[in-house]
Amino acid sequence: MIVKLGGYGYSSNTYLILDKENILIDPGAGEYTEKILEEIETYTTNIDLIINTHCHYDHCSSNYILEEIFGCPTAINDREVKHLKLGDEVTVSYLFGKKLTPPKDIIPLSEIKLDFLEIIETPGHTYGSISIIYKDSLITGDTLFKYGVGRTDFPTGNFNQLKNSILKLEKIFYEKNLKFILPGHGEIGDKRAFIYAKNIL
Ligand SMILES: [Zn+2]
Repeated sequence: MIVKLGGYGYSSNTYLILDKENILIDPGAGEYTEKILEEIETYTTNIDLIINTHCHYDHCSSNYILEEIFGCPTAINDREVKHLKLGDEVTVSYLFGKKLTPPKDIIPLSEIKLDFLEIIETPGHTYGSISIIYKDSLITGDTLFKYGVGRTDFPTGNFNQLKNSILKLEKIFYEKNLKFILPGHGEIGDKRAFIYAKNIL
């Protein structure tokens, strides 16, 4: 199963997948780690892997604290491994007036094989942004929201790429008969998210 957690303040939504392995997607900003931890512990005491949809501070600055607690590595698109390691400008930590502490164990996503998840590359919000299919849900990070699309004015962002990524997601959403859009911020959406998105794009 998959559950939505977090979304405190400016922190991203967090999704917890409880399956053959327990996967935590975008644990959020470091300042809210205590709260997210409380929520996680109502479901499980074991996390096998953290996956970040992209390297932005509000999605991944709590990685290192949860790594210490659960002893789990963090996977991120190969293109963004170096940014997460360095906490450089691509992580936009400067927007929050913070420094990003990286987790110690970062694995390029191309090395991860999980038969219950499907990773889709959806560049645009950042060049290494990904979306994830789990059962009938599409986890979209900051690529697509219930009522809008991600910003493309941050480092490595690209509007045309974002547009193509959303069109690609729409195709997959219908082909695979998916039901839910699980975005990086705000409420859970459905197929109508593509209608709103195409009005903006
Ligand atoms: Zn972002």
